[in-house]
Amino acid sequence: MTKEGPVPTRTTRRKGKAETMSKKARAKKPAVVRVTDISEASLECRDLRHPWKRVTDFVLVRTKGAPSIFTRHLKCPRCTTERFDTYAVPSFELLKTKTVYPKDYQLHGLKERVRISEVRREMFERNKSA
Ligand SMILES: [Zn+2]
Repeated sequence: MTKEGPVPTRTTRRKGKAETMSKKARAKKPAVVRVTDISEASLECRDLRHPWKRVTDFVLVRTKGAPSIFTRHLKCPRCTTERFDTYAVPSFELLKTKTVYPKDYQLHGLKERVRISEVRREMFERNKSA
């Protein structure tokens, strides 16, 4: 007499899908953009953060005459990244933020997030050879 135990759940592997996506990405963009490939300005902003300047500051947006949100547009004078924030009225809580990076800011094709220590090392290496 055999009793059937609980059916073991199978974990589905999605290897195939990931491979298809990386193939697509490879076709459009350069395979890998490392920290050594990005501009001086982009590197500096990754290390020290963006020195944001206000393009517009807390603009009140009304919906059907009633105050609905505040918007704020910021721009980095060093690397030209732009940030568009939306805040709640009247709490000023951040509702959403959208960041638009210049072409040479973002890294591609790396398996892991770039560590800040790697950014610092690259800054050091560039300054040494300058
Ligand atoms: Zn910047």
